[in-house]
Amino acid sequence: MHQHYDIAIIGGGITGLSSAYHLGKSKDLKICLSTSSEVSASRSSANMISGGLIDNFTRIVQRHGPEKAEQAWKYSNHAFDALMEFAKANGIKTVKGERRRLIETPDELEECKKAVVELNEAGFKSLMEKAPDGSEHLLGQQNDGERAASIDSQGLLDYLEKSTSTVTRLGKTTRVIRESQQFKIETEKESFTAEVIIYANHLDISHFLPGLKEVLVSSQDQWLRMQTEAGTLPFAPGTVLSWRHGHYWAQIESDRQLTMGGARFLRPMAGFEADKAELSEKVSKNLPEAWAKYFPKRPLTKMIASKASLDIRPCDEIPVIGPMFGETGIFLGAGYMGQGISLGFKAGQSLAQLVLGKSDELPRFFWPERHRSLASTDNEEN
Ligand SMILES: Cc1cc2nc3c(=O)[nH]c(=O)nc-3n(C[C@H](O)[C@H](O)[C@H](O)COP(=O)(O)OP(=O)(O)OC[C@H]3O[C@@H](n4cnc5c(N)ncnc54)[C@H](O)[C@@H]3O)c2cc1C
Repeated sequence: MHQHYDIAIIGGGITGLSSAYHLGKSKDLKICLSTSSEVSASRSSANMISGGLIDNFTRIVQRHGPEKAEQAWKYSNHAFDALMEFAKANGIKTVKGERRRLIETPDELEECKKAVVELNEAGFKSLMEKAPDGSEHLLGQQNDGERAASIDSQGLLDYLEKSTSTVTRLGKTTRVIRESQQFKIETEKESFTAEVIIYANHLDISHFLPGLKEVLVSSQDQWLRMQTEAGTLPFAPGTVLSWRHGHYWAQIESDRQLTMGGARFLRPMAGFEADKAELSEKVSKNLPEAWAKYFPKRPLTKMIASKASLDIRPCDEIPVIGPMFGETGIFLGAGYMGQGISLGFKAGQSLAQLVLGKSDELPRFFWPERHRSLASTDNEEN
């Protein structure tokens, strides 16, 4: 006898767990969650969350136009606010700070000034500030306000695991076959049917949806948790920093400790298309050096932990969340460009709303349909 479910969620990282949590509120739905023991990117995160995007607003405007840039920024802000509210309500530890972009070159300075104007015109808060006291080589910083925090992401995932424990857990999905009004899903041990599928299985999504193979590009990254033994760091705990157009990022965890990542450009092919994650010696050497260039009096001399993981960078650098084009009953969420803890949490909520036919803040511009081949757009509806 096959078990039948209304909705099958594939993948138990932040996207899948959040989908299960939000759908689980509809008690009359029969839901299952297919999980795998393989590594989850969510469990490797650096505990950093923020609103907006890693890239500056001007970059998103240049690539996608002002309207879409505004939509993307707003959605990420919603994601941050929703997660902070959820964390507060459920005792998950967060430390709130500010989102700051450090500026080294005159070109960056001009661009940040423009970004501040554009952000304020679009209704977001942003301002220019002088370089941090005691820093070297910095010309200033862009302060995008208080949508930044560190979060206990393991605590968040554990909470979601526990609060979705009534959702049936099944093994790793190996095959999905469309039957007229439903899907037959095979796992390593069982097979079952479902009317709707939510793909939340990260890089494995393109195994089931080959049309997205060129869209969901793998990218290898790493972080180092380090301390200074020379006084306190020049930013308050909870601050999220990026510089050199997001090539470097850091999250201040306490007066003396931060987690820092980036420098992917030192990896072969900048880490793109990697099939496994490895710590790079070059990157591990470069990160504290890059910090010491700006803050030589606060060098990061003590290493606490390090982690490498694979992420997804969509080919147009915009998350892919929503119904799959040309495939009734299939939804997916992926490609959060390094902001998957808040965007993956929000994607789970948005996908639940979409599946239930309810309205949500998700911009249509995030839907996978933007990657549909133009040849098929005339005859397909979604
Ligand atoms: C080094 C690094 C640091 C990062 N730090 C941060 C950070 O500080 N803050 C932040 O917001 N983002 C961060 N990110 C990004 C973030 O980790 C990811 O965007 C996010 O975790 C993706 O979540 P997900 O649920 O989509 O994928 P995952 O967490 O990878 O979940 C997918 C799950 O699906 C399972 N699976 C795979 N195939 C199958 C299958 N066939 N059947 C069933 N299950 C399957 C996997 O085992 C996995 O558990 C970081 C990324 C990297 C690389």
